[in-house]
Amino acid sequence: MPSEFDIIRQYFMLNEVRDDVVLGIGDDAAILDIAKQHQHQQLVQSVDTLVSGVHFPVETSPHDIAYKALAVNLSDMAAMGAEPAWFTLALTLPDDNETWLKAFSESLFTLANKYKVQLIGGDTTNGPLCISITINGFVPEGKALTRNTAQATDKVYVSGTIGDAALALAAWQGDCLLRDDSIFFLNEQLNRPQPQVELGLLLREHASACIDISDGLIADLEHITTNSQVGATIHFDKIPLSQEFKSNITDEALLLPLVLSGGDDYELCFTIPKNKHDQFKKMVNDQNISVTCIGEIDSRQGVRCMLNNKEVDIQGTGYEHFVD
Ligand code: ADP
Ligand code: MG
Repeated sequence: MPSEFDIIRQYFMLNEVRDDVVLGIGDDAAILDIAKQHQHQQLVQSVDTLVSGVHFPVETSPHDIAYKALAVNLSDMAAMGAEPAWFTLALTLPDDNETWLKAFSESLFTLANKYKVQLIGGDTTNGPLCISITINGFVPEGKALTRNTAQATDKVYVSGTIGDAALALAAWQGDCLLRDDSIFFLNEQLNRPQPQVELGLLLREHASACIDISDGLIADLEHITTNSQVGATIHFDKIPLSQEFKSNITDEALLLPLVLSGGDDYELCFTIPKNKHDQFKKMVNDQNISVTCIGEIDSRQGVRCMLNNKEVDIQGTGYEHFVD
């Protein structure tokens, strides 16, 4: 039987990718060099926990669990415009299944190395499967993107496409059937969302407010409008949908709730002030960045979605929010 520390050494001491880590895994705590290497920067910190059977189906592969646990944390850094640096991992495991641990670790470090984030410590306990990651990143002083700084006349944007993850989840729950040619793409969108870290960094110079879409487009945009004490009007026809999504969903009864209330996309929703809009449009065109303007911030409280010149009854979309 390997000891707890053998397991940690074998599966978790694998990505020394940063030179601001003075002491990583192995002591009572990690030591990080903040003073020399991060002058005039602010530390940005966030934690997210995934519980088996609540945030992912119990049969989800260790690959997908590890990827998603880190990706949702990277997405929080993206939404703040922060550059991710280090993370800790609190892992509760029902047993020490090494096949599971190997797959989990490989997937975790593939993503960690891609974004040059280093695992600097954690805790390993026995119990029902649960993964909690705390992530830390940096922003130049005063440059973080927050939820409370949108203003009337700002444009509302989203990145990527919306609704794919919710559609994959709906299919997994048996609410609809997917065409064979789109199953892989849609499941990838649910299980392996691309955290929009690079976009978050770019947005520091352009956006007035930003959030990542985890609960659903309307719910998350509402976080921006409520915190900023403004409102928003978006246009359903402008919301970017993937070909795979469109080829599966034509029925309005499913279309509206999936796009407006479905969660788990981990795209960014952000606002661009009017006076910066031309410059922003040029930048995204030049750099071929996938973002779409879906509406505008206004001074009437709440979020409204227009379709065929009528306001969609958002409460009546009848789709329950997924459990957080
Ligand atoms: P302590 O009893 O001092 O808390 P632990 O035995 O819990 O120490 O952990 C020993 C070392 O291994 C610590 O540096 C800790 O941060 C690290 N560690 C424990 N579990 C994990 C994990 N799941 N991922 C990364 N590092 C871990
Ligand atoms: Mg411990």
